[in-house]
Amino acid sequence: MDLLEYQARDLFERGGVPVLAGRTATTPQEAVEAYKSLGADLAVVKAQVRTGGRGKAGGVKLARGEEAVLKTATEILNLTIKEHRVETVMLSPAADIAEEFYFSILLDRASGGYLAMCSVEGGVEIETLALERPEALVKVPLDPVEGITPAVAARIVEEAGFLPDDHGPIVEVLQQLWQVFREADATLVEVNPLVKTGDGRIIALDGKVTLDANAAFRHPEWDEYEEAAATVDLERQARDLNLNYVKLDGTVGVIGNGAGLVMSTLDVVAAAGLELPGQPHPANFLDIGGGASAAVMANGLRIIMSDPQVKSVFVNVFGGITACSDVANGIVNALEMLGEEARLPIVVRLDGNSVEVGKAILSEANLPLITVKNTMDEAARAAARFAAEEN
Ligand code: GDP
Ligand code: MN
Repeated sequence: MDLLEYQARDLFERGGVPVLAGRTATTPQEAVEAYKSLGADLAVVKAQVRTGGRGKAGGVKLARGEEAVLKTATEILNLTIKEHRVETVMLSPAADIAEEFYFSILLDRASGGYLAMCSVEGGVEIETLALERPEALVKVPLDPVEGITPAVAARIVEEAGFLPDDHGPIVEVLQQLWQVFREADATLVEVNPLVKTGDGRIIALDGKVTLDANAAFRHPEWDEYEEAAATVDLERQARDLNLNYVKLDGTVGVIGNGAGLVMSTLDVVAAAGLELPGQPHPANFLDIGGGASAAVMANGLRIIMSDPQVKSVFVNVFGGITACSDVANGIVNALEMLGEEARLPIVVRLDGNSVEVGKAILSEANLPLITVKNTMDEAARAAARFAAEEN
């Protein structure tokens, strides 16, 4: 579960990490009120979306005075950044930035442990830094029990090449961020940039936090986050229906049976989309598992179609134990159950057990929303094309 920046800021503040004041607003008028309550002359208005690169996309802007704040907030609240509509902005007193650093703690699945990454060259995207100047990015594996002790923090700061004057305050912030990471059951805490201000203070100016959903049972306070996130909302609905669903940010809904098949379907859809306007890509991962009954299919289609970003659906089923005829009946009955709710083109590719019977059932049903394709590639192209046309 990814937090918005202001939620990460609040978490940092509670953990003693130095941050700037932050006030959120969902309308330009609220933004002006927030600006007034900050009492700062120059403020920064920041889009609150679950994606990086907001600065480059025009989602982070400075504004001085009520009129400028009104104008800037109006602009930013009208932005869509990488398919994320901006619904909330955060206002902070503008920081006087002298230097920008990078720091993160993450669950490194490759090594099966925690990793701290740090650089005195922050502000830029970390992927770019890792590619272009890998030597400038220090990586220190962390003992999961000890985490960032004073000695570990000192080592990170030393290896990253901070000036001696900055060692003390940075060492302290790294330890505080480890505490936040540990107590929040996070899998990622990233601060980019961690800044040094003109008057020498160290401040976490941007925060990205991913919480480990497996720990939700011991964090009743996370309910507050869930309400803010449509994504999490869909994922929770899916979980309640026993569906294995992960929301992604594209426009092509994907349903398949078996995690491996669904994963490769995502790749094929993404590849098909590359050639098309707007480059449509998958909107979700949804594995309906073995029994593709009408009820399961209806639940799956309902979840996918209630995501407003979705423009087309690709149902990709390989009949093994489940016969394609059952799946085809499931689809037909699901569309009956959904009625008006089924509003999008659905491309179906069936193969394997009883495939001919399955296709016959679909063609007899003669449903206008359904297009049947014979191969996974053809079907992926058709689904991507539908999504591109809808855009
Ligand atoms: P991101 O682009 O989504 O990572 O958003 P950030 O919050 O990291 O902001 C992007 C960049 O905007 C930062 O690296 C800073 O250079 C700049 N920026 C953000 N806040 C301030 C601020 O308060 N004052 C100044 N001068 N620049 C800021
Ligand atoms: Mn940033």
